[in-house]
Amino acid sequence: MTTSSIPATLIAGDGIGPEIVEATLAAFDALKVPFEWDRQIAGLGGVQQAGDPLPAATLDSIRRTRLALKGPLETPSGGGYRSSNVRLREEFQLYANLRPALTVIPGGRYDKIDLVVVRENLEGLYIGHEHYVRIDDDPHAVGMATGINTRQGCHRLLEYAFDTAIATGRKKVTLVHKANIMKVLTGLFLETGLRLYEEPRYKGKFELETMIVDACAMKLVLNPWQFDMLVTTNLFGDILSDLVAGLVGGLGMAPGANIGADAAIFEAVHGSAPDIAGKGIANPTALLLAGALMLDHCKLVDQATRLRRAIDETLNIDKVRTGDLGGTANTAAFTKALVARIAGAN
Ligand code: NAD
Repeated sequence: MTTSSIPATLIAGDGIGPEIVEATLAAFDALKVPFEWDRQIAGLGGVQQAGDPLPAATLDSIRRTRLALKGPLETPSGGGYRSSNVRLREEFQLYANLRPALTVIPGGRYDKIDLVVVRENLEGLYIGHEHYVRIDDDPHAVGMATGINTRQGCHRLLEYAFDTAIATGRKKVTLVHKANIMKVLTGLFLETGLRLYEEPRYKGKFELETMIVDACAMKLVLNPWQFDMLVTTNLFGDILSDLVAGLVGGLGMAPGANIGADAAIFEAVHGSAPDIAGKGIANPTALLLAGALMLDHCKLVDQATRLRRAIDETLNIDKVRTGDLGGTANTAAFTKALVARIAGAN
């Protein structure tokens, strides 16, 4: 284990954010990971305390540390605020969204799932270039949206996916597209991927298959075990990554990593759960798994493995589970059991 400290930004976030962040910090402490946290605010907390959902001090901190753990953020309705999450992606060019789906609690409808979705995070139909067209007296007669994919954007995302596939021992990458209909927008993504795969650094290192998104959605439901890694454009990735989260028990178990040229930000996929905020009953598993991804990113492989094992043992051997998983434990009881598991493995 490295002893030199690693500067990192910590955003507790809104709603259940502080509760699940506290659980994750307790696990990190038990693992003795050397993060040196710079605590910052964003989202609703940013608006309330600094008049901005993404205050300059928070951006400066991430610029300095290039690494952040983030609780869920609420975008206040009214006031014309843009989503802090989208702003973070743009500000730090977080072009890759990594969403692993791993069965943590066996015996569900789908068992032994282990796949990962790599989603392009900045381009495509998601960029929000939309407008209405007036015809006669109807100002909303036509709705239009523009999607933009660039060769450079496709290339860097596909390169990230292919490198990650090799580094993590994935045997097959499925490139998901809709180039039969959207020949230009997703055709560029397909063509860039096929061309990149021909390079000696990738060719034969894993199998590359291509699949149309609608067929992919059906096959994911019928037989998800045939997939290993999916790589796709922004909107398809948005939909498919939630689909695969559903295969492994829902958003409460789904971590996400946003990786970019200038920073990497780790988070749970779920939101701030205002309906249960402050009650101390939130399930911290998704953020804990995001913490494991953060440890992977920092090459703290031993601690990442121990954290994942402790989560597994707490849920499946000790059977300590929060209410959303059918258990009776609150967040504090789950965290205590998890920390005991980590300490036991020391
Ligand atoms: P949500 O994910 O917050 O909640 C959906 C349901 O799942 C709720 O019933 C909630 O109680 C439950 N839930 C979610 N996480 C849970 C956990 N860890 N443990 C137990 N139960 C959990 O979705 P929402 O209600 O649509 O969104 C609430 C707010 O969060 C919105 O303001 C939204 O914009 C924001 N949001 C933020 C992010 C992010 O920061 N990455 C992502 C999604 C939503």
